Amino acid sequence: MSARDVLVHALRVYYADSRDPNGLVDKLIAKYDAERSVNETLATARGAAADMFEVEAGERRPMWRVIYTDSESATGVALVCTAEGDADEHRVIVTDDGSGEPVRDEQGVYDCCPGTQFETYSTVLAAYLVELLNADVEAGEQP
Ligand SMILES: [Zn+2]
Repeated sequence: MSARDVLVHALRVYYADSRDPNGLVDKLIAKYDAERSVNETLATARGAAADMFEVEAGERRPMWRVIYTDSESATGVALVCTAEGDADEHRVIVTDDGSGEPVRDEQGVYDCCPGTQFETYSTVLAAYLVELLNADVEAGEQP
């Protein structure tokens, strides 16, 4: 007996509704089925992505960042660049906030950066996707 069968039986007993004259149990089960199929699709997609990352990056799951794909707006998403030393092309730039402190250009894209990048055309969507992707990475790394 599947979990769904148990749920159907329990609902019919709970509502004393074996004939289901109001169709309430059927409506609840239809809602359960709809939500479950979405969750299974998301779980399947997450699993497939995790498998791809393992092939690309080994056991270390890559983190994501928002990038500027043009000079004006942070609407792109890319893997965090881990280049170091001479290979690191993220030129140090001087902020114009008055502090005069140089900072690494974390949102820029250079030849040293991993190839996986995509454009969202939305600063809100880019930030959201980065948070979602990194939440999965962090969840996957918990013991
Ligand atoms: Zn880079």
